Amino acid sequence: MRSEMASGNELDKIARHAADAPIWRADTHGMTGQQILKLYKTSAICPRCERLAFRDKGWQARRIARCPRCGWRGRAVTVDEYITGNLYK
Ligand SMILES: [Zn+2]
Repeated sequence: MRSEMASGNELDKIARHAADAPIWRADTHGMTGQQILKLYKTSAICPRCERLAFRDKGWQARRIARCPRCGWRGRAVTVDEYITGNLYK
């Protein structure tokens, strides 16, 4: 947890890291961190490895998501919430 909002550089790093998984690489190729953030801000993010995650069965009721990279499954927040809540590592 941090007390201050992420800087532009930090946001860029978070976004690039989030998309740094084989399954997202083709879709985000050549994009800046800002472009990635804009496109995926309502996507779920994996709290374990901080990559973009899929909304799974149970998202509507309990925000259940599944990470295609590390296999984590559980309650998740969106990329937007992750950043505004200063939840990133
Ligand atoms: Zn993960």
